[in-house]
Amino acid sequence: MSLIAVDGVDTAYGAVNVNRDVSLSVGEGEVATILGPNGAGKTTLLRAICGALRPTRGRILVDGRDMTGQPPDRLAAAGIVMVPEGRRIFADLTVEENLRLGAYVRRDQSAVAADIERMQAYFRILAEKRGAKGGTLSGGQQQMLAIARGLMARPRLLLLDEPSLGLSPLMVKEVQAVIADVRRNFGAAVLLVEQNASLAFAVAQRGYLMQSGRIVAADTIEALRHSRLMRELYLGEG
Ligand code: ATP
Repeated sequence: MSLIAVDGVDTAYGAVNVNRDVSLSVGEGEVATILGPNGAGKTTLLRAICGALRPTRGRILVDGRDMTGQPPDRLAAAGIVMVPEGRRIFADLTVEENLRLGAYVRRDQSAVAADIERMQAYFRILAEKRGAKGGTLSGGQQQMLAIARGLMARPRLLLLDEPSLGLSPLMVKEVQAVIADVRRNFGAAVLLVEQNASLAFAVAQRGYLMQSGRIVAADTIEALRHSRLMRELYLGEG
């Protein structure tokens, strides 16, 4: 059974339809990616999966259980956690306080403290900057903090929205390495939305191509990468 299954989902902002009849699934520990042009509806779909936006049709299933319309804290408690585009870290809080906030749904305070140590051991920069205000970090450091904060919820599925956006090539490589490592180090699956196709191809096992709100191709990442549709629609080759 899939960890998460999106089943025939439509989304809309008011009268404006975005996603139409989207179905996809992510298995335990799998890295899947949704590729597609700007405005295709990728972010909107992630918002529906994490409970931030109620689908107008279809279902969101976690371990086969219907979680459609549940609020984000319920989905987080079920292990579905989003790291939004633009990082959204708290600029006036310290790095450590930002990490602690990632664990807001947890009750196991001693394990939370141990996980903060663990994040600081894995993301060395977060140990160095533990007392610094979030807003003083570079873009790449903020992205590491945003991912670590997401991991503090002990997710089973991390939804990552454009983690490489605006980062230097060196930092993009670091983000790529972290994503490739998430399963082994933190036991989580990942659903990644990325404009940087080479990053997505490098880390994902499965890919979905979204266009105008619909999934137009779903396959292993290798097959998708070499598909004609992918080259035509995404890479702009004729
Ligand atoms: P991008 O990579 O640019 O974020 P995307 O594939 O993630 O693209 P979405 O952000 O999901 O696409 O946007 C899909 C459509 O929904 C776009 O036409 C966008 O203008 C519209 N949209 C996004 N957010 C809102 C909102 N809060 N209210 C109304 N329309 C919105």
